[in-house]
Amino acid sequence: MSISNSSIRLRTLTTVMSLVTLMSFFIPAVFRAGGGIGDVVTAVSVVQKTDAGSAAQTEPIPPLVILDAGHGGEDGGAVSADGVSEKTLNLSIVLTLGDMLEAAGVPVVYTRTEDNGLYDGASPGHRKMTDLKNRLAVRQKYPEAVFLSVHMNTFSAAQYHGMQVFYSKNDERSKLLADLIRETNRTYLQPDNERVCKAADSSIYLLDRSGGCAVLTECGFLSNPEEAASLSDPAYREKVAGVLCASVLQYLYGNESIERTTQ
Ligand SMILES: [Zn+2]
Repeated sequence: MSISNSSIRLRTLTTVMSLVTLMSFFIPAVFRAGGGIGDVVTAVSVVQKTDAGSAAQTEPIPPLVILDAGHGGEDGGAVSADGVSEKTLNLSIVLTLGDMLEAAGVPVVYTRTEDNGLYDGASPGHRKMTDLKNRLAVRQKYPEAVFLSVHMNTFSAAQYHGMQVFYSKNDERSKLLADLIRETNRTYLQPDNERVCKAADSSIYLLDRSGGCAVLTECGFLSNPEEAASLSDPAYREKVAGVLCASVLQYLYGNESIERTTQ
């Protein structure tokens, strides 16, 4: 199993600035007060500052966010008619999302940053479960972190499309984040998306076994040609990452009580 801490993934200032600019499109609430590239970082990082009136009392640091790109390695996940594998799109969105969150001062850990599964050493018949258990182990290593898994959907009938979010029923904060993702997506990306968030059953192993805030976003259907084409476009995937980033920031900082309970 390889767990890569995002802190070693360096980005140029230009890249970070462009990411924050993209984020500003999705985070009007943050920019309403001042408006500017620096404001979003300032607005977020102020939470980390020490209370000037009490040296011993420090403000909470931002909670860790675990980003889980579904599948990887020999497990490609869903595949579009054009042969695009889910695992590649998941990773692309997760890495962009991680850059956005880090630009906003939120620490990130990834379950994978390359095209690999987390099943080293397992026999072929045990690789899928080994992979899932290792992902769950990352989650359990940081039990208070926000856990966000990114996947693509597929179905036998091609007409179905649209993002859908699943949440762990083990902690009520999970539904809160799921609903934020749904509403942010409807506001900025898919206004006609009527899909409701669903509680994960035992078929979604990671959410079924996870404590804390844990959600899984199916970003779209690769079985739908139009949506598969969109998801194959890097610019569209950046928008999906922007929706997820804005939702996580809203979850962490949009409500004082939410922020406190995630510490
Ligand atoms: Zn998947």
